[in-house]
Amino acid sequence: MPELRRDPILNRYVIIAENRAARPGAEVGWAMTTDAESTAKLVGTAHPTCPFCPGNEHETPDEILALRGDATQQNQPGWRVRVVPNKYPALERDVVPPPHRGTDGPQSLFFQASPAVGAHEVIIDTPRHVTTVGALRDLEFAELLSVVQSRLLALREDPRLKHALVFKNVGRAGGASIEHVHTQLMATDFVPSLVVEELRSARAFFAEHRQCLFCRMIAAEREQGVRVVAESAGYLAICPYASRFAYELWILPKRHASHFESIPAADVSDLASFTRHSIATIEQLSQPTAYNFFLHSNPFDSVAIEHYHWHIEVVPRLTIAAGYEWGSGCAINPVSPEAAAAVLRALLG
Ligand SMILES: [Zn+2]
Ligand SMILES: [Zn+2]
Ligand SMILES: [Zn+2]
Repeated sequence: MPELRRDPILNRYVIIAENRAARPGAEVGWAMTTDAESTAKLVGTAHPTCPFCPGNEHETPDEILALRGDATQQNQPGWRVRVVPNKYPALERDVVPPPHRGTDGPQSLFFQASPAVGAHEVIIDTPRHVTTVGALRDLEFAELLSVVQSRLLALREDPRLKHALVFKNVGRAGGASIEHVHTQLMATDFVPSLVVEELRSARAFFAEHRQCLFCRMIAAEREQGVRVVAESAGYLAICPYASRFAYELWILPKRHASHFESIPAADVSDLASFTRHSIATIEQLSQPTAYNFFLHSNPFDSVAIEHYHWHIEVVPRLTIAAGYEWGSGCAINPVSPEAAAAVLRALLG
């Protein structure tokens, strides 16, 4: 089973998951595509070898949750959004003690490990075999987001779990092993280091200014306007000032909220349409498209708080991080966010 190891130098965690090396990914769902299949993909015709297509429900572990028609049965066709455990999980929920696996004695300073406890779920966005978010309908994306909320609300009831990251890997360079458009969720018994850093910075800003860092940044970006890609009644899309990647895009709710799972259904439908259109523009930047999408929301341990503000980050995989980036943690971005925002605004039309 996967193991969680602590890095004593940077005080961050690494998941060692050898079971994931057995993933069939390369063969499943990425079968060589004929011209007829390419056309089928645009309209979403079922793919016989795709484990996420209706009729192939037996290819995945049993479903945890599905939005489906009244007359349909679990693990059978008739669903609109379907949640299943990841077949090759990096985290496992049913862990038998002992939880501690590290070394005892003086060496325990360096060798701390425990089973990687948590939930690793796959959310199949649509029964249609489409490969991009742009090919989804607004209603499908809204249903997907409401299912994500349901899963977060259910998982936070498990007292062991501290945080969940919801993300998408799209395209091979984005790390996808199955092309049928889907989302993943990993809930862990620790808060990942990037979220810890965001929280620390947001808390310090609030202590000094008595205002939310993100709310203030939203106001500043709207005032300058040059990095704003789109705006709806409730949301703002920007290429952030210190974008690490070319065409990096953030989607922020204009109304302050710390926890994504608590936003009302009316806000979800605005968010779905806005996010889907914004991502569809990112998908036009390269063929085949490749990017990652992730949702940063507050850890499970609190009710609404004033200083943290949930948001979505979309990271296109157009360039490859190399020696300097890996060695320094400092990104080199060849496209300024101001230029990127102008291109994305033009694509949005
Ligand atoms: Zn499929
Ligand atoms: Zn805020
Ligand atoms: Zn973030």
